[in-house]
Amino acid sequence: YKRNFGQPEFLEAVYEVLGSLIPVFAKEPRYIQMFEKIIEPERQIIFRVPWVDDNGIQRVNRGFRVQMSSTLGPYKGGLRFHPTVNLSVIKFLAFEQTFKNSLTTLMMGAGKGGSDFDPKGKSDGEVMRFCQSFMTELYRYIGPDTDVPAGDINVGAREIGYLFGQYKRLANQFNGVLTGKDLGWGGSMIRPEATGYGCVYFAKNYLQYKNMDFKGKVCIVSGSGNVAQYTVEKLLDFGAIPVTMSDSNGYIYEPNGFTREGLQFVMDLKNVKRGRLVEYLNYSSTAKFFENEKPWSVPGDFAFPSATQNEIDHEDAEMLVKNKVQGVFEGANMPSTSEAIEVYKQHSMMFGPGKAANAGGVAVSGLEMAQNSQRQQWPREEVDEKLSCIMRDIFSMSLSASQKFGLGDDVQSGANIAGFIRVADGMIQQGAV
Ligand code: NDP
Repeated sequence: YKRNFGQPEFLEAVYEVLGSLIPVFAKEPRYIQMFEKIIEPERQIIFRVPWVDDNGIQRVNRGFRVQMSSTLGPYKGGLRFHPTVNLSVIKFLAFEQTFKNSLTTLMMGAGKGGSDFDPKGKSDGEVMRFCQSFMTELYRYIGPDTDVPAGDINVGAREIGYLFGQYKRLANQFNGVLTGKDLGWGGSMIRPEATGYGCVYFAKNYLQYKNMDFKGKVCIVSGSGNVAQYTVEKLLDFGAIPVTMSDSNGYIYEPNGFTREGLQFVMDLKNVKRGRLVEYLNYSSTAKFFENEKPWSVPGDFAFPSATQNEIDHEDAEMLVKNKVQGVFEGANMPSTSEAIEVYKQHSMMFGPGKAANAGGVAVSGLEMAQNSQRQQWPREEVDEKLSCIMRDIFSMSLSASQKFGLGDDVQSGANIAGFIRVADGMIQQGAV
């Protein structure tokens, strides 16, 4: 605690995993030392990012890359650009990434990075100059066999393009240093869709285990970015009725459910026009916008928090219970506070924790790395099929780890246990490094 003082998000993530590992430590005390080691990043880089705005004024932001674990492969994890980014946030994300990447069973270590830069209201030119400056420092620490960053909040196709262009110029190499690249120059089919699709595939496996399906089920989705958009798309494919989406200004309630055309409007609005979700009211006469509110008071069958950390607190979780929501599947990283998770457990709700349910994004990033190494691009159907199998396996591994340690259906603890054991075994085998 003392060593990580002032890092609440990181401590919250560590305690959440620690709680699940008690039965493992009781059986195998040698794992305790591995846990002590796993919470200390292998390397942390903090750097100045100077850039010039459109008015010729010099600005400065702070850049981060936390290289958490290289036990299972090169460091791997996204970059986040958001004013709330600080060391605690990046460390919690890098820590979660360790277990998530392990669960995919692909050869990926874990890392995370980003900046407190806020792209909202910035011109394309400003975003490009910022990305170029960010990469001018970051490129020293990354590479296709060292550390392979990807996107996260506010780092999408545009930013990955600018970052890759600058890396290529500095390193004089065209290689798979970033994932989430455009399809025309080294990207993978299904990568944009992967986190949202993967989350719904994970939920589908959970529902099947409970003898249920998605047909006609009302789903409450938060966020309107990459993860939320493709969660809604896959829910529609499976016959569910997604009725909400949100951004940091509030949420849209579409009582009859978003249609494919409505979703396309949101995609154009957010990805191309970079507008605000409230503008969806120009498209739909049935929708309502609730300013500065979260969607958790809307009745439904399942919740898919897909915006950001700590967006469901104790009170929100109680509201979900009151509305008879039966399951929560986390598209975002750590969207539920530990108090909220307690509520889910007390009421025996289905719960797909982020590090399992949203692992589809990094899984397809791992497949992008494999394609880059082969200098090939696999067909869409093949990648989608692989994603679907990986999510099925993550669900069954998490469930069986939980059952093995006498925790019943506790998929959250099972995901922590299965993810931890693979990394810890590798650490033991690789010695005190
Ligand atoms: P995007 O930037 O595409 O979208 C983020 C969405 O969340 C936007 O609607 C945004 O609203 C909203 N949001 C962000 N911060 C806040 C906040 N503090 N309060 C309320 N709303 C907020 O990001 P992604 O969709 O890629 O990421 C969403 C979540 O999923 C994150 O937790 C991310 O770590 C996680 N994730 C993403 C993966 C990926 O492949 N992209 C992989 C695994 C996890 P606004 O437009 O107003 O900012």
